[in-house]
Amino acid sequence: GSPAWEQERKRFENGWHGRLTVSDVSRRAVPAVDPDATPVFANQPDADWTQAASRTALRDAIAAWKQDPLPPVPDLNATLDTARAAQPGWESAGAKHRGEILRAAARVMAGDRYRTLACLRLEGKKAPAEADAEVSEAIDFARYYAATFVVPTGLQARALGTVVVASPWNFPYAIPSGGVLAALAAGNSVVFKPAPETAGIAWLIAQQLWQAGVPRDVLQFFPCADGEIGRALMTDPRVNAVVLTGSSETARMFQGWRPSLRLYAETSGKNALVITAQADRELAIKDLVKSAFGHSGQKCSAASLAIVQAEVYDDPVFRRQLQDAAASMVVAPSTDPRGVVTPLVQEPRDALRRALTLLDEGEEWLLQPRQVGADPCQWSPGIRLGVKPGSWFHQTECFGPVLGLMRAESLEEAVEWQNGTAFGLTAGLHSLDPAEQAWWADRVQAGNLYINRPITGAIVQRQPFGGWKKSCVGPGAKAGGPNYVLSFIRLEDAGEVS
Ligand code: GLU
Repeated sequence: GSPAWEQERKRFENGWHGRLTVSDVSRRAVPAVDPDATPVFANQPDADWTQAASRTALRDAIAAWKQDPLPPVPDLNATLDTARAAQPGWESAGAKHRGEILRAAARVMAGDRYRTLACLRLEGKKAPAEADAEVSEAIDFARYYAATFVVPTGLQARALGTVVVASPWNFPYAIPSGGVLAALAAGNSVVFKPAPETAGIAWLIAQQLWQAGVPRDVLQFFPCADGEIGRALMTDPRVNAVVLTGSSETARMFQGWRPSLRLYAETSGKNALVITAQADRELAIKDLVKSAFGHSGQKCSAASLAIVQAEVYDDPVFRRQLQDAAASMVVAPSTDPRGVVTPLVQEPRDALRRALTLLDEGEEWLLQPRQVGADPCQWSPGIRLGVKPGSWFHQTECFGPVLGLMRAESLEEAVEWQNGTAFGLTAGLHSLDPAEQAWWADRVQAGNLYINRPITGAIVQRQPFGGWKKSCVGPGAKAGGPNYVLSFIRLEDAGEVS
């Protein structure tokens, strides 16, 4: 290949593409389970759209899709009593049996791929590539948790009991599947409470898992509004743990309701990608717009800041290329197969409305976001210049298609600002200089670190996902990593079980 290609290949082989995302670099986590000792696991490939059969299957699934009527809200007391009664049998059936059911779940999910994709496109408002990645990730969770749940020798695992999994609407398929499957793998019963915006996708998950052999009383579907019933569920003492992916405010609210609650929450982020003078600028731009505007920025992992070293920031060619790259992303409803920047799941309000419409002192638009067409949720990407350290935009998660650029004199300054928020979920660096990479990786405070790659799109096993600082509540074992299922058990010394 060409020298540039050769360099790219070397970087890949050296593992720079996401090697640090295991982020044990920053957290120095020692896996409780030796990942090399676990059975071989391979990631599920995405659909192959070069095949006419895949395209036809998706087209048919979209045409056939209709919003299934959801089951009525079950009685809370009965649900929790059922969960408790069913749990011991599920636990005593053994990890091997549960692992087989998880593998069956992976097969059902893979076989049902196009129906799920249709639902993700139409209800979840996901662009084709985003939807596809979610299905692969859910299948990965099933196989990975089945393969990696090994109780350390000399210890006895006890399930926690009943686990509530509350799903988010931004990754309505992969994230709740992961939580539900991990809790089930460890021998718990699960009450699955879907996000109201994407309850249809959650209903599909429940049906797929039941079909795979998860007993209906071990996994119960509990659609309810976020109000009183939700609160009664989270605060009931029969619930032993809650898994939440949502905002920091929601996590704090749950803790306020029940301070003793065992809560595992992956919450907000204010994530930055640093671009130094040693970056491959075109690659950086490509990865930046993907990280900032994929799923219209509605990812906890999204890049909402780019901290750019002065000589790059001041370069008019860089700015023009960035502007072009963002402006050429196709803004379209999720029914349109070309759509990349799809409508927001909720109408913009509060912080996001402000981010889309108002600038602060000293800021200007490199690209002004606009509401497009008749849908109040459809916005085009926006890029703010001149975001100042400590300013509102530097500190506030907005969860939409707005990116802010900050101008840093040095890598030192860039890292200070990158670390200078309350959150610590994802962080990125674009630099081809190994010395800068190592220096950065030693100092940046985030759960997932990425070098020369987008900062969204963690892959199961390769990039276990989870946050630091205010982005995480609970023990912090990462989803898609070797310790995640272990957070759903208690370990006791063998022989000492009473
Ligand atoms: N795991 C997703 C990613 O790596 C993000 C999940 C989230 O937004 O909560 O992009």
